[in-house]
Amino acid sequence: MSFVFTPPPVVAVPVVGQTERFPVRRIYCVGRNYEEHAKEMGFTGREPPFFFLKPTDALVVAEAGKTAVIPYPSLTSNLHHEIELVVAIGRGGRNIRAEDATHHIFGYAVGLDMTRRDLQTEMKKLGRPWCIGKGYDQSAPIGPITPVSQAGDIGQAAIWLQVNGTDRQRSNVSMLIWNIAETIEHLSRAWELQPGDLIYTGTPAGVSAVVKGDLMTGCVDGLSLITIKVA
Ligand code: MN
Repeated sequence: MSFVFTPPPVVAVPVVGQTERFPVRRIYCVGRNYEEHAKEMGFTGREPPFFFLKPTDALVVAEAGKTAVIPYPSLTSNLHHEIELVVAIGRGGRNIRAEDATHHIFGYAVGLDMTRRDLQTEMKKLGRPWCIGKGYDQSAPIGPITPVSQAGDIGQAAIWLQVNGTDRQRSNVSMLIWNIAETIEHLSRAWELQPGDLIYTGTPAGVSAVVKGDLMTGCVDGLSLITIKVA
């Protein structure tokens, strides 16, 4: 097959302990999935999970042990960090039941759902899509994927983010409103999941702004830590 221009490269994430990479198909994100974060955003209670997407090529891969660099994006003066557990889907399906969900998971990674908060807030007020606040270029840093068998009990793992060595976000994956299995159940009713899909599962409380020069270090205990510099 020939093309009218060179096709973009496959976006792929390193896998801990092996040389083969995880090719990415789609990036799904869950909104407001920790109670304390929902409250800080002005919402309360358990609402049905809701989803948005980021473009696949918005990923910025932080290789193990290295600092990845993201540029301070255009159009914003309020760039927020959101540390998140990322679920990597290895087996597709639709209408997956929560009790079967683990069979569809390849592994887990640490990700950042970077957000142009001022633009997102403006779009919310106007009832318009969040894309410009959430789905901008280089908005999705991610670290290496740890296969399920090596990841330990992720459902009970600490999740945290430091900026310049100071805690900004610290919680536990057990505090998710919709846990990993329930998220997969809901998501797979709306879209047919496929191998290569990533799910950013939501962020705990403590989201706040970063500026040029800040160094973010984040982890979900048991997974590969990520270090991201804002340039
Ligand atoms: Mn998020």
